[in-house]
Amino acid sequence: EAQKETLGFQTEVKQLLHLMIHSLYSNREIFLRELVSNASDAADKLRFEALHNGSLLESDPNLDIRISFDKDAKKVTIADNGIGMDREGVISHLGTIAKSGTADFLKNLTGDQKKDSQLIGQFGVGFYSAFIVADKVTVETRKADVAADEAVRWVSDGSGEFTVETIEKEKRGTSIILHLKPEAEEFADGWRLRNIVRKYSDHISLPILMLKEEATAAAEGEEEKQEDKAPEWETVNTAKALWTRSRSEISDEEYKEFYKHISHDFTDPMKWSHNRVEGKLEYNSLLFIPAKAPFDLYNRDMQKGLKLYVQRVYIMDQADEFLPMYLRFIKGVVDSNDLSLNVSREILQKDPAVESMKTALTKRVLDMLEKMAKKEPEQYAEFWTEFGQVLKEGPAEDYANREKVAKLLRFATTQSDSATQDQSLEGYVSRMKEGQDKIYYITADTHNAAANSPHLEVFRKKGLEVLLLSDRVDEWLMSHMQEFDGKQFADIARGDLDLGTLDNEDEKKALEESAKEKEDLLKRIKDALGDSVEEVRVTHRLTDSPACLVVGQFDMGAQMRRIMEAAGQ
Ligand code: ADP
Ligand code: MG
Repeated sequence: EAQKETLGFQTEVKQLLHLMIHSLYSNREIFLRELVSNASDAADKLRFEALHNGSLLESDPNLDIRISFDKDAKKVTIADNGIGMDREGVISHLGTIAKSGTADFLKNLTGDQKKDSQLIGQFGVGFYSAFIVADKVTVETRKADVAADEAVRWVSDGSGEFTVETIEKEKRGTSIILHLKPEAEEFADGWRLRNIVRKYSDHISLPILMLKEEATAAAEGEEEKQEDKAPEWETVNTAKALWTRSRSEISDEEYKEFYKHISHDFTDPMKWSHNRVEGKLEYNSLLFIPAKAPFDLYNRDMQKGLKLYVQRVYIMDQADEFLPMYLRFIKGVVDSNDLSLNVSREILQKDPAVESMKTALTKRVLDMLEKMAKKEPEQYAEFWTEFGQVLKEGPAEDYANREKVAKLLRFATTQSDSATQDQSLEGYVSRMKEGQDKIYYITADTHNAAANSPHLEVFRKKGLEVLLLSDRVDEWLMSHMQEFDGKQFADIARGDLDLGTLDNEDEKKALEESAKEKEDLLKRIKDALGDSVEEVRVTHRLTDSPACLVVGQFDMGAQMRRIMEAAGQ
């Protein structure tokens, strides 16, 4: 029985569809990239399943993607013989958005078309982009291990509902049939389609096939087809795994499109690093720094980690054993010749080869950042705005690279007196005053609170620079930074303020005398405040304010205290 049912899209899908159709008009051709990208993912997944179950591939062993069109019927079809979907898969994958960060994304939309199209791009457009050019989409799919008469047809006009019914499909895999909108008829054209494939999908390692006749006939303006010959398919892309090619023969455009394919991001990456390692361990790696932070950077289920291949066979997405957490924003591919094709997450976690690859890949990323910071400070500033907060988790997580990460950190300081985090520790050290042996900092909830703290008074008077820290992660960071370039860090709101040789003897003497004189006053204040303070004392910290609160040398800082309180401790 056909078991046809009509179902509604999840609300988020409806919102996304509406936005996409209205804001991506000028970028319509990306629908093909998205559908080809999905077809390629489906082939990767099938190849992986076939490692354990060879029979899945047997009946139809040559994986490819076929693009065809019908000018008269105004249709374009993208067909693959990959893993396919069963009924349940169709309903959940093509009816909902499972992505973490969806709510945040929708909240961030402004209604301004230009801004929103940027955001949609960052969020990722995926399958639903088919509706930018089609007013009806038909998906026919048969999962690899499912009988021919249990295939599924999904149909929707993209407005709010879709139907699913059981059909018969001879071959494994998925066909996406786009019924083009009148204003998108131009895509039912061999020349146009080939150009789009070459532009966006050349790097796909699977052959993308198109019919020879169709392409040449369109190019030469011949309409009639030769009846006597069977249609001949030909490959229109390079069809070689991009990371296995040599750097010199890959264009920037190809790298950028490859990034979009693996990251499901829509924006060009900021930087990349492509390397082949030979010797004791052999692997290829291609690592990208995105230009924009994803919506779920702080979400536990964020898509992190690299795409893992073993000897060019896709093994898994999100292999997060190859980079530390604080570099979770890096996207890319690692292809190893040493790991077994049967490798699992459990094995990855224990394998010493993986550990040494992680060390090397971490170094690659840090080197790439160091180079950018040195040679392209403006770009580095952009990077810092997007990912600086995450990088600040580095010193706590990665003891071995603490100094390297510390060099990459940027802070707001009293030097510039702006909230922009653009000063390096190396810069701070180079400006240190004669006799200064510490790097001073203050933490507060906001930049303004830090910049206006009374604790700064004596530092301003003596012309000493202080780091102004106000990010949530800052106290955590500073608790793991003991020193930089041999100079210790000192929280100026904590314990006794000892400016060492920066205080002259006269000042010290004056302070002692004044403390003696005011003993009575101090006692009275302490009595009045009771247990809410530990001690009241005379200080040279202040020049204008009458009093300030100081945290004990070994007590928890104010920010940490609030975090612990919020966590119910
Ligand atoms: P993404 O590719 O980022 O997961 P998409 O919106 O492009 O998001 O696709 C949603 C899901 O639909 C995919 O994750 C996959 O499970 C399924 N899907 C889409 N196209 C295909 C296909 N050609 N073959 C098998 N599954 C597919
Ligand atoms: Mg996709």
